[in-house]
Amino acid sequence: MTEKLIRLCEEKCLKGEVLSRNETIALLEIPVGSPEDQKLREAARRAASLIALDKGYLWCAIGMDYAPCAMNCKFCSFGEKWGLIEQSRQVTEEEIFNRVRGYVAEGAAYIVLRTTEFYSLDTLLKQIPRIREEIPGNYGIILNTGELDFVTANRVAAANVYGVYHALRLREGADTPFSPEKRIYTMNSVTSTQMSLISLVEPLGPEHSAQEIADCFLNAVSCGAKICGAMARFPVKGTPLGDDTSMVDEAYLAHVIAVLRLSGGNSVRDICAHPASQEAVNSGANVVVVESGAIPRDAGFSEKDWAGTDMQHARKLLEKAGYHISAPPAQNTKRQKCACQGGNLEKFMQPIILDILSRGDQTGYAVQKQMREYATYQQAIPDMAATYRFLKIMRQRGLVHYDGTAYAITNAGLHCLDDWKETLKEYISTLTCLIGQLEISPDV
Ligand code: SF4
Repeated sequence: MTEKLIRLCEEKCLKGEVLSRNETIALLEIPVGSPEDQKLREAARRAASLIALDKGYLWCAIGMDYAPCAMNCKFCSFGEKWGLIEQSRQVTEEEIFNRVRGYVAEGAAYIVLRTTEFYSLDTLLKQIPRIREEIPGNYGIILNTGELDFVTANRVAAANVYGVYHALRLREGADTPFSPEKRIYTMNSVTSTQMSLISLVEPLGPEHSAQEIADCFLNAVSCGAKICGAMARFPVKGTPLGDDTSMVDEAYLAHVIAVLRLSGGNSVRDICAHPASQEAVNSGANVVVVESGAIPRDAGFSEKDWAGTDMQHARKLLEKAGYHISAPPAQNTKRQKCACQGGNLEKFMQPIILDILSRGDQTGYAVQKQMREYATYQQAIPDMAATYRFLKIMRQRGLVHYDGTAYAITNAGLHCLDDWKETLKEYISTLTCLIGQLEISPDV
């Protein structure tokens, strides 16, 4: 029975299909270490050959600022409430150059500049041309920083940034103070540009259920993430989740990786495991992280590559599993409708659909017809396929219910609509300010 499920899921994956929530959960529930788990991992490795073409990538992250962060996420050593950082420290420009130079010389595909929530985006963007000028090479620069609205995401894309790491994390809103809708808004803002979205299931602990893992992953897929995977939570002593909880082991992480590889079909090109192990790369992961500097998984600043994973070790893991170390795939240059022409207004479909359903149950067709009344559509008929895609995603997330005839909003959907209203109000003030600045800018 389980072997049949694995075969079916492998076939679907190789056809490019994303597995359903139920299929993903059923695979996650296969006992770790069982003969079926072994079959699952072998299937995932075969899928990696066809989908990722046996290419392996080295992901090199530099933690830019070792500083207390007022967001106080319960798993993060930087939370100012935990008092673990005695002395703040910023990585200097010279240190950045040295690290990037070393990583690129050893085959890095991605250079990731990671900051806390409040690091200045302007400062970060100024670094990019300097790094490019100082260290030429075929590598992509990725930012892992605070929230972005779609205006800011377009500014980041214009700065020659390859991609942005952002995630709706496990228990977002409970273990963190972030609104899940705001996180999703940032993810959608990134994919409204030509940049790649990178998003892992994190921080994965033994307490997370198969349902939570599946929802976290499928949300990343629905936002258009190109690199996904899973990252374990490292319990840091002194943080609220650091004392009593343990860490997932290598075998479990490899099992989750195998499921995510199959579940993503060909929507997710690459799968990352952190921390990487031979088991994880043998189970379909083809991206390995090397990191240094400020690391939210540790109490101290890391002058060297963290936790014993340096470039040599990372390369060995990938090569031993049969991957060829590669430069990043070419960026998606498919011309999207530019933001200045309303290209990302599709992203407002979710609050619009919720608003329509808050006034009564409706068929998908009726929802689509009413959408044209909303300001973002200006009487143009919204895309039917996109409407159904959003309805499907919203069902998976429990925001709407479908009884076979009509869609109805759930309590979670009503809360989500309230969150959207707050988030959009916040962005209005940013946009009003930006419009004012654009109008008074002198002509050049
Ligand atoms: S995870 Fe990010 S936002 Fe949360 S406390 Fe750490 S640095 Fe701040």
